[in-house]
Amino acid sequence: AEELMLKSEKLSIAGQLAAGIAHEIRNPLTAIKGFFQLIKTDQQQQYFDIVESELNRIEAILSELLVLSKPTEIRFKRTNIEILIKDVMTLLETQAIMNNIQLNLSFMKTESIIMCDENQIKQVFINLIKNAIDAMPNGGVITISTEVLDKQISISVMDEGVGIPEHIVKRIGEPFYTTKEKGTGLGLMVSFKIIENHQGTITISSEMNKGTTITVALPLED
Ligand code: ADP
Repeated sequence: AEELMLKSEKLSIAGQLAAGIAHEIRNPLTAIKGFFQLIKTDQQQQYFDIVESELNRIEAILSELLVLSKPTEIRFKRTNIEILIKDVMTLLETQAIMNNIQLNLSFMKTESIIMCDENQIKQVFINLIKNAIDAMPNGGVITISTEVLDKQISISVMDEGVGIPEHIVKRIGEPFYTTKEKGTGLGLMVSFKIIENHQGTITISSEMNKGTTITVALPLED
């Protein structure tokens, strides 16, 4: 247990460092992007496109690293978690339709209140649903369901995708571990960190070529 504690302490220091560095890099990056837009011409369009897509990639990595900032900076608010999830689904609806994916909701209750930082919890479900979409290149159904047990709410994101091989499940949550060409490998690490800061847990269950279910459990407000 001691080793585990040390590990999580190290992670939080690394997280703070990451957030600090991410902040510092973001300002010059914004300036570079701005001037780049100004000098972009039709000549050598493909080079400009490459630079632009790499700049966007750096920006995506920085946004995810920034979420790792100190737990004390989290702004906890009473939040209806079902409404929050519906908001996230609305946000991702176009992306789902474009990928031939149907988003299904199966809520047990409609009045579940948790204490959370709304933006951070939204980020978690955006990450989970985007991963589910990526896992189904030929389309399919994503079902999001909730279950209330004791003083906890479990929210499951279930896909019918490729599944996660066992050797990869072990590595999930490691920074920069990705199997995607355009992945950052930070989405789940950041999600684990956010849920940990909210006194919750994330569990993964997956079957190859059948699909993956990722369940987030969070404490309900008393
Ligand atoms: P990224 O999506 O940028 O790769 P993540 O940390 O979100 O970073 O995910 C890490 C890896 O976990 C992914 O590259 C993928 O291999 C695997 N993974 C995550 N979610 C799923 C899922 N729903 N189905 C299959 N594989 C998944």
